Order: sequence, then C-alpha cells, then structure tokens
Amino acid sequence: MALVVKKFGGTSVGDLKRIRHVAQLVRAHKERTGDDVVVVVSAMSGETNKLVELAHDCVKKPAPREMDVLLATGEQVTIALLSMALIEQGTPARSVLASQARIATDGRHTEAHIEKIDEEAFRPLLSEGITPVVAGFQGIDPSGDVTTLGRGGSDVSAVAIAAALNAKQCYIYTDVEGVYSADPRICKEAFRLPKICHEEMLEMASLGAKVLHPRSVYFAMRYQVPLTVLSTFEPGEGTQIVKEEELVEKPVVTGVTYRMDEAKVTVNGLRGGIGSLNKLFSVLSGGGLFVDMITQTGTFEDQTNVSFTVPDNESSQALEIVQEALSEIGADGASLDRNIAKVSVVGIGMRYHTGVAAKMFEVLAQEGIDVQMISTSEIKISVVIPRKYCEMAVRTLHDGFVEYKPEISEEQI
Ligand code: ADP
Ligand code: ASP
Ligand code: MG
Repeated sequence: MALVVKKFGGTSVGDLKRIRHVAQLVRAHKERTGDDVVVVVSAMSGETNKLVELAHDCVKKPAPREMDVLLATGEQVTIALLSMALIEQGTPARSVLASQARIATDGRHTEAHIEKIDEEAFRPLLSEGITPVVAGFQGIDPSGDVTTLGRGGSDVSAVAIAAALNAKQCYIYTDVEGVYSADPRICKEAFRLPKICHEEMLEMASLGAKVLHPRSVYFAMRYQVPLTVLSTFEPGEGTQIVKEEELVEKPVVTGVTYRMDEAKVTVNGLRGGIGSLNKLFSVLSGGGLFVDMITQTGTFEDQTNVSFTVPDNESSQALEIVQEALSEIGADGASLDRNIAKVSVVGIGMRYHTGVAAKMFEVLAQEGIDVQMISTSEIKISVVIPRKYCEMAVRTLHDGFVEYKPEISEEQI
C-alpha cells in the first residue's frame, strides 16, 4: 500500500480550530486514496520562540542540552492535541516522540543532524491502521539525550522520515500556497512557482526563503523523495521540487531572497598579508564561529581592511574574539555593523547567461542602494546592503529580474 508523509508547520496548527482542520485534511486524504499517512508536526506558532525567550530570561547562557529538553516540549503538545482530534474524528492515531520513532541524530545540541531513522519503529502502528503523529524538530543522540535540529527543523524530520519509509510523496503544508518567486509577505508581485529544481530550492532556502529548511531539500535530492509545498488553508497544486531535467522553463532568475540574521565585522589596519589573514580566521574558527562572506578592501602600504559576516546572534562574540587577539593577528581595530541584510538572486539559468551581476548593480544603483559586499556561485549572486533598504531591494530586484510566465502545459510543447 502507498504511504505519504504530511508535515504541518506552526501556523497550520496555531490554534485548536486549525488543529481540528488539519485532522480533517488527514482523514480526507486517507478516505480518498486509501494511503497510509504519517503526520509530522511543528510546535504551535510562536511557542518555540516563547521557549527560547524563557530560557534566556532564566539564565545568561542556557546549557545546550537543557535547551533541547525545553525546546522539544513545543512539538510534544501538538502531537498529543492532533492525535486527540484525529481519534475523535474516527481516525485511529497515536502521538510519537522522536525517541519512540528512533530518529537518531548526532550530539550537536540545538543544531543536530539526523543520522538514521528506524523504519521498523513505524511498522507496527501502520500495520494496525494507526496514523503515527510524529514530533518534528526533535531527535535522540547516541547517549539517549533529546536533541533538536535547528530552527525550522520539522521540514527536515518530515523529508527524512519520507526517505526512510520510501514514501511516494512528502507534503509540506504551510501558510502560503507554495514556494514563491520572493517572500510573498514583502513582495506583492511575487508569484507561486509551480515547479522549482532542487539546486535552486537549496540556494533559496539557504539564502533566506524559510518556506523550506535547506537540509530538507538536501534530503529530498539525495534520497529522491518527491516533495511538494502547499497551503493548509487554500486548495491548490502548490510547488513541486523536481530534478532540473523536469523544468520546462529555466529563467535566469527564478527567485529573490533575503536574510537579516547576519552581521558584519570589519578588521582595520591588518598587516602581514596572508599570514595575518590566516591568524584572523583561525582565531574565529577556534571560537566555533561560522564565517560566511569575506571581502578585503583599501590595501595601502601593506595594510588592509577585512570585513566578514557571521550569524547576528554570534556577532558580539566574534567581535570580542577578534578584539582580544588584535596584537596576535597584527591589526589596529575591529568594529561591528549589525544593520546589514543579504539580498540574493537565484536561478539555474544563470549558468547559461552573462551580465546578471552588472544588471543587479545597475538596478540597485538606480534606487541609490549601496552594495557593501558581494559573493557569487554558479546559480546565485548575493549582496550585503544596509538593512533599512532590504525590502525595497527585494522588490526592485524582483521587478528588474523576475518575469511571470504562466505554466506551460505538456500539451502545448
Ligand atoms: P511553517 O511554520 O509552516 O514551517 P514558515 O514560517 O517556516 O512556515 O515558512 C513559511 C513562510 O516562509 C511564509 O509565511 C513566507 O512568509 C516565508 N517565505 C520566505 N520566502 C518565501 C518564498 N520564496 N516562498 C514562500 N514563502 C516564503
Ligand atoms: N518549532 C520549531 C521552530 O519553530 C521547528 C519548526 O517549526 O520547524 O523552529
Ligand atoms: Mg518552517
């Protein structure tokens, strides 16, 4: 018999009425198709944020292991409520914690990676016709401790479970009608993309399109899990994440994304060339910091300035680490700018076109938006700009680059 995985995000289970609505969707799918359904859920919207705040109100630096024990409670509430709603509607269901589903992760608390899922953990329930309602976002590490998968990690749980169970589809239900050409909340011209390929989706997700967690796209690509994003509230086809060969259209720019969760550190008067660059980045990696973009500017008489971006929530720590090591590195000073945003254009068609960067700078210059840093890959260009221009830049770039093309049906080709 066929099996599908359906994952419902925070807004989709945001209150009791919505939880009952989700139960109806699950029941309707089962009745219509006869499929087995494994349900994966997030915490009710806002609950994980509240738990994070609670921890930070309690102590200055929450212990990561205890943070995970706390954060994992959000999903425990939803699996119980949704299972109750399903049972009351006549659909046998059972809540399943990650420890019961044997979702094995490494031990990186708050950012754990799934290593293995035991499909046998699901079989007894499915063979009795019981719908498992699994807590997303959580796992269990080799010592038996609870872990969490990073914010937005329920998407990863869902696709990994779908891969382990060889599901015919993984549906990610959310509060928008699919993946859009830009965040529909800030760009009203954005439109739903009927299809997007894995590579583009992976870039868009990594560069801020939080509709899917990047690692869920990676799992879908690696294990060939058919993946669809669609709305819990509006009927519709949603967006299918497909192989590049399945795309009829390959626009130069498919989507525009943004992130406002990075900050820029600038180190001034760096002396000693490559040796001091090596020292600077060794000090940072020794402190466990992830550096994203790097630029070097204003080289004069063997002195240079280097800027790099780090996650905003680690930026004060990055500044401190650099300031403490200034004489060891051989630099004059360091400063922090938290008012930045990273805006990116993404498209598989960039592989076959030139001039995208030039046009991007032209479009931004027309609006008087200063570009502070640039990075490119085969299918994306990202720029760092002042944060206050972020939304304007997304809209302007969308306007300048993304063309609406109604879906071409197979018969028209
Ligand atoms: P869920 O709680 O269902 O996991 P998320 O809040 O994590 O939902 O992701 C959905 C949100 O992602 C949307 O409400 C939307 O504002 C945002 N988003 C950002 N970029 C995009 C995009 N390109 N397409 C669709 N949604 C996007
Ligand atoms: N509840 C978790 C979060 O808010 C996981 C998720 O929603 O996917 O990050
Ligand atoms: Mg999400």
